[in-house]
Amino acid sequence: MINIRTTTQSGIDKVDFTQLGFGNYISDHMVVADYKNGKWGAAEIIPYGDLLMSPAMLALHYGQAVFEGMKAFKMEDGRTCLFRPQKHHQRLNRSLARMCMPAIPEELFIESLIALLETDKNWIPNGEGDSLYIRPVVFATESRLGVKISDEYKFVIMTSPVGPYFTKPVKVKVEEQYVRAAEGGTGFAKCAGNYGGAFYPTQLAREQGYDQVLWTDAKEHKYIDESGAMNVMFVLNNVLVTPKLSTSLLDGITRDSILHLADERGVSKEERKVSVAEIEAGLKNKTLTEAFGVGTAAVVSTIQTIHIHGTDYPIPLPTENSFQLSVKKQLQQIRKGIIADRYNWLHIL
Ligand SMILES: *Cc1c(COP(=O)(O)O)cnc(C)c1O
Repeated sequence: MINIRTTTQSGIDKVDFTQLGFGNYISDHMVVADYKNGKWGAAEIIPYGDLLMSPAMLALHYGQAVFEGMKAFKMEDGRTCLFRPQKHHQRLNRSLARMCMPAIPEELFIESLIALLETDKNWIPNGEGDSLYIRPVVFATESRLGVKISDEYKFVIMTSPVGPYFTKPVKVKVEEQYVRAAEGGTGFAKCAGNYGGAFYPTQLAREQGYDQVLWTDAKEHKYIDESGAMNVMFVLNNVLVTPKLSTSLLDGITRDSILHLADERGVSKEERKVSVAEIEAGLKNKTLTEAFGVGTAAVVSTIQTIHIHGTDYPIPLPTENSFQLSVKKQLQQIRKGIIADRYNWLHIL
């Protein structure tokens, strides 16, 4: 049984459920659990609020901090489902292992999350395209100044009701100077430092009129890795092409889900190294017909311009029948329970 201390001051009356946006509201409660003396203690649910912590906390100095991003949905029949929670849990543990942080047991992760969703069930929105964004985070809490692997950690889960993440079609710039992640580094881990390090080149790209950077390999800047907090996919000569997984890019669960749906639709797909040169050739001769980012937040984000070596290449906007828009719709319908969940992706509460 998980100990639950409920709030006496719910913030739900301040939420405008007709205009949620993304990440503007945090639900009333959070899960907290502490790791000490070599093991995780019991998870508790407490009112969401500030934590007391030391400025000597190791996470602040040496960067042992890892997170996840996942979603819960209100289904058509009123039940709630979590989308692929086991897969998110496994990825969290891979990220933790890379950062020398202790694994979170599956029961701790899933049971505390379900208890949190029960406690804050009124926060799960059910408008068209709405969902509850879930943010688990683990960070080093031992307080001392020497460089070392922390012996103490805190695990927190927060949630946020979010609306449809309508991104305008984005302009991306192929990055040829800065690096997000090198092979052998931490690019495959959802660890805090990857994002802090990406801000500066992304800010430069924004100043030049682009929304995001398309990261390339650290050695030669010849092959595409991913974009911002999204994996990328292209339709090239009617084949769905996406960079194959490596230690320098994140194993996205949206990416994996879309690749499964491509198979089901009989769409040819290739997971392989994708060179900047072939993307540029495809843009020039119009055999590249779609480019899009995929991730939990937006599901699919259309790319309308790709900047390569000083040239902006436009891509025609996708039609309703395009792969990206139809697969996005299919994924949404699976999550709503409108079409069958053939792969057992939904964990229904
Ligand atoms: C989270 C994330 C993604 C997308 O992963 P999903 O599991 O689909 O949400 C892609 N790239 C990076 C760098 C990320 O942080």
